[in-house]
Amino acid sequence: MYGQPLSLKSLWRIVRHPVDAEKLAILDARWREIPQVLRDYPMQGFGRQSTGCGATIGINPRCDFSCTGCYLGKEANQIPNMPLAGVLAQLDALRAHLGPKANVQITDGEVTLRPVEELTAILRYARQIGVIPMVMTHGDRFRLEPGLLETLMVKGGLTEISIHIDITMRGRDGYPVPKSELELMPLRDDFAALIRTARKRTGLPLRAATTMTPAGIEPAVQA
Ligand code: SF4
Repeated sequence: MYGQPLSLKSLWRIVRHPVDAEKLAILDARWREIPQVLRDYPMQGFGRQSTGCGATIGINPRCDFSCTGCYLGKEANQIPNMPLAGVLAQLDALRAHLGPKANVQITDGEVTLRPVEELTAILRYARQIGVIPMVMTHGDRFRLEPGLLETLMVKGGLTEISIHIDITMRGRDGYPVPKSELELMPLRDDFAALIRTARKRTGLPLRAATTMTPAGIEPAVQA
């Protein structure tokens, strides 16, 4: 269903109308909202080419790591998951504000700790309403549960993932208290291999990114 080649008819429609009417209307609304000083800036992209991107919030405040740079409050692990219906309603609100084909981060605490059936339902729904979900994760559940990434790709239509790796992280299997970024390079290689294997096994595309919190800015993040 996902990652299938486009039909000739769809390709022709995209060539003739690369930006659809709904997206154009939302772009126009965003453009009218931004201050004149930004509209005068020739490189201003928001409102011209982009309606911005979005992110879920509060869908799974829990995390099994305890990174020194974490932005979550101390109470995060006591907060229950948002019911699935609430998550889908958030996606609806994001879709209405951002328009079709917008990038939406599926994030909060560690979203892969939600039951896999719920995470695949969230991903499927995002696709169904026309936004592109990217799962933001520390990635360890994929290391500990072989096949989970493939399940999200096949059953959830996952095409984008971002894995956070850096020395501020605490609790990772095999790397509980990393001392240097160099020490984490084999872990990054492992994730790259895991992603390549998932692409090969499923025959589906998966775009991958990585994020990091530079050591030294954690106090500013927490302030
Ligand atoms: S993995 Fe992310 S959410 Fe979890 S403790 Fe670390 S920074 Fe916070």
